[in-house]
Amino acid sequence: MLQNLRIRLVLATALLLLQPGPFRGEASADPIQLDSWDGKRALATIEDLVKFTPRAMETPGHQQAIDYITAELKKTKFDTVELQRWTATEAGRSMAMTNIIARFNPSNPRRVIVATHYDSIIKAYRDIKNPDGLMPGANNSASGVAVLLETARVVSEMPDAPPIGIDMIFFDGEEGPISMGAGDPDFHSIGSPYFVDRLAEFYPRTRPEKMLDFDMVCFRDMHLKAEQSGLHSAAVEVKKFWEIGLKVAPGIFAREAAPYAVEDDHTAFQLAGIPSFIVIDIEYEPFYNTTEDTPDKCSVQSLEAVGRTLVKYLYLP
Ligand SMILES: [Zn+2]
Repeated sequence: MLQNLRIRLVLATALLLLQPGPFRGEASADPIQLDSWDGKRALATIEDLVKFTPRAMETPGHQQAIDYITAELKKTKFDTVELQRWTATEAGRSMAMTNIIARFNPSNPRRVIVATHYDSIIKAYRDIKNPDGLMPGANNSASGVAVLLETARVVSEMPDAPPIGIDMIFFDGEEGPISMGAGDPDFHSIGSPYFVDRLAEFYPRTRPEKMLDFDMVCFRDMHLKAEQSGLHSAAVEVKKFWEIGLKVAPGIFAREAAPYAVEDDHTAFQLAGIPSFIVIDIEYEPFYNTTEDTPDKCSVQSLEAVGRTLVKYLYLP
């Protein structure tokens, strides 16, 4: 099963990330109003995006997704939106590429990158009955976009800005040169390495402190385990994130880490030495990269678990 997924096993057993036991009690007067993070609104965003399927590079739905994300960001305080456009030549063809970068509180010199990918695979290659059918990509990839957009809405409505400035990045080309993701033996992400190679254009003085990546975060039966590359790159941040998650949604966040590493848009940042981790549940069977990756596989509760954890994490001192 797992060899069909884009993972590489590492020689490590799953670490017990956190010791079981009660968490320290928190003051009830928490200034961060997590209830405002609305999973129904996030699910509606997924439903909107799925209507543009296919959203692979060089399809009309790809541009529709760019236009949609940009328009939604413009309604928030993440309204300084920059489109990083270039032409990639991959697998013998030229493709128009676009990373979408939206900055909140740009005057804050401290920066965190919160990222996802918005491109989606071109066909449902893992679907036994219909491997050439469309892959709606509700979980892989609309869920990450939905979590970021809802977080942008909520942070914009908060009375105070988080102590760190936020750069949301919606990466193109995560699913590789032929938009087949794990179905492509020559898979490599395109958008995030391109951005990292030009990091100084966006961060001329100080590099971002850390990077968080979100992918496949809406499954109704989701169990979020910290993965190994994040633990190597950003153990302290992973621990902080999971400590919050275990309080917000103890049925969804797992105390044990996954024994494997996942390759995704956080990988390029890790290679550049920026502490980075991914929030993902790759155990999405039997729907992963099939025609059945549809919004009904998502739940409001799973989206809220991730989104509310993210907001609380961003407001950590
Ligand atoms: Zn993905």
